[in-house]
Amino acid sequence: MSCVICDGSEGEIIWSDKILRVVLLDHLDYKGYCRVELISHQKEMTDLDEALQFNIMRCVFKVEATLRKILNPEKINLASLGNKTPHIHWHIIPRFKEDAHFPNSHWGERLRQGLRENLSAEEKKELITLINESLSQ
Ligand SMILES: [Zn+2]
Repeated sequence: MSCVICDGSEGEIIWSDKILRVVLLDHLDYKGYCRVELISHQKEMTDLDEALQFNIMRCVFKVEATLRKILNPEKINLASLGNKTPHIHWHIIPRFKEDAHFPNSHWGERLRQGLRENLSAEEKKELITLINESLSQ
């Protein structure tokens, strides 16, 4: 069975260790959109030992804090669904009042054209630098 997360065909891996990775999905509707992915196939947080649960959430919160610092969004949305892939993963989505769906979920009804911009080269560089610094501590 092919697996979109094992294939690594979505986004750009901007940080990884042997257990977790941070993928930048940055796109025109949601600049800075990141995902924290468990590299192995595990479907539920409660199947993991407590240390790994905390490690995953630490990574999610480091990415959230970094995105807030760089983009100053109205809100960060965190989501973990995993209905289509056997990997635990967390979506970390910076939200703005002017984005295409706000205040709906980014999977909800589109309300306007939205911002239509990716991260700038400077924002992307800063994001990668700060995430690597904070996760190597
Ligand atoms: Zn997989």
